[in-house]
Amino acid sequence: MTERAKTFVKEVLDGGLGVHIGGRPAAGEGTAVDLINPATGGLIGTLPGASADQVDEAVRTARASFSEGTWAQDDAGRAETLRRLADTVHAHADDIAYLDAIEAGKVFHLSAAEDVEDVVANLRYFADLADHHEGRQLQGPSGWGWVRGVPIGVVGVVLPWNFPIAMLGWKVAPALAAGNAMVLKPSEDSVLSALFFAELAREAGVPDGIVNVLAGDGESVGQALGRHDDVDMLTFTGSGEVGRLFLTYSAESNLKRVSLELGGRAAYIVDSEHTKDAGGTAGDIIGAAFGNAGQNCTATSRIVYVGDEEGYRSFVDTLTDEALAFSVGDPMSDSAAMGPVINAEARDRIVTWVDQAVEAGATVLARQPDLPEGDGYWVAPTLLESVPEGTELSTGEVFGPVAQVLRVDSREEAVQLVNGEPYGLASTVWCEDLATAKWWTDQVKVGTLALNGYSEGTVATPFGGLRQSGFWGRDNGPEALDGYRELMTVWVSAP
Ligand code: NAD
Repeated sequence: MTERAKTFVKEVLDGGLGVHIGGRPAAGEGTAVDLINPATGGLIGTLPGASADQVDEAVRTARASFSEGTWAQDDAGRAETLRRLADTVHAHADDIAYLDAIEAGKVFHLSAAEDVEDVVANLRYFADLADHHEGRQLQGPSGWGWVRGVPIGVVGVVLPWNFPIAMLGWKVAPALAAGNAMVLKPSEDSVLSALFFAELAREAGVPDGIVNVLAGDGESVGQALGRHDDVDMLTFTGSGEVGRLFLTYSAESNLKRVSLELGGRAAYIVDSEHTKDAGGTAGDIIGAAFGNAGQNCTATSRIVYVGDEEGYRSFVDTLTDEALAFSVGDPMSDSAAMGPVINAEARDRIVTWVDQAVEAGATVLARQPDLPEGDGYWVAPTLLESVPEGTELSTGEVFGPVAQVLRVDSREEAVQLVNGEPYGLASTVWCEDLATAKWWTDQVKVGTLALNGYSEGTVATPFGGLRQSGFWGRDNGPEALDGYRELMTVWVSAP
């Protein structure tokens, strides 16, 4: 069921249709981006991105659609449209998953079942919230009034490539539910599903100009959105380095609201004293470390065993077996647990970091020997031990299928490993004793703490990072919707 996606790719590439503005695809007039299939290293095609004038046109179109139509006021109408969009996205799950598979190397069957369905769930959840939009009433001796949440206006969105459609859904669903108009820039490594989404939005009845999508690179299109004086809010998911730039862009332009969801270095802690079968956690841990080829902001990069040496060795043995069983394969195959990494640069960096750690004394516990052949960007899922301090792996976000295992004697040491990091996005603790689990939740400081199984929560739970993993705002949950609204007080003076 990927025929439509294949036709779409052909049409987009033949026409150079790198932008979707005002409900219509159009030829990009800016710098071209190469679309590469990471599983083969082959060029899918070259797509011209948006020019500076087209960024401006998209923002003007979004502003006009926001100001002139009924979209921003009609809560019930928006909710209905978002539910239709959810159905449309659901009906095209395979098409979307195909686009993310060929361009971002995402495993097709997982992407269709998880990422696309996550977008569907988001659209439905925020449609329900839009439908039940309640203000706050107040009264006092001087009069009476109410507080309303009103849409911000034009929201710029700059996205990463690791979960192209899911990250888009996390932004689009609450921002549209709140009544905003949007201009989205997907990563230059994964543009197709975003352009396709714009087409689906139109089919589902989202008014023209409410969802605009621009292909292009960060330096030109991303920056132009960040600096645009008529963009009211910029929501970004990506690296800390680029995230910081958006704060500068805002400060140097119209002080637009900026929300940043950034990197992480999640730990997976096994509290052996309160875990019946530490080895039984291995499958979950390896999935959390190597799923999506480790290219996940909540990927487990440190596996921390709290307990004695004997238990640790047996735990490591089971973990090693699981790591070696984690299958790497063609993203379109049903048996692949992970595909390639996104590009040659990422592959080379990840391999260099591992080599550097090994040269400095790290031990390789497991390195999957069974990789596909060919020119794809394959990296072996790798489990390490004794990674020395001072190596890139000991402090950096590897963003690849690499994790290290370590043992500590006390819970306090494990807590310090998490809380002492500049990142504070997510972590997991396995601890089956309720009272001790409560202790862990009181001690570990991260945006999302999963207990007894890796998780990022649900569409209804806010997701975002502490410390340098985020700056203002949350994805998911009612808090995300609030982030896309301004507060306005209306006060009626008593005569
Ligand atoms: P990135 O920061 O390199 O790029 C993200 C986006 O920023 C892309 O669209 C890119 O074109 C744009 N960009 C690049 N340079 C720019 C510039 N100078 N001005 C404006 N825009 C610019 O990140 P990435 O490699 O695409 O994604 C990986 C990162 O994303 C990791 O750090 C990961 O942890 C993070 N991430 C975080 C979350 C979260 O929810 N916290 C989720 C997914 C990914």
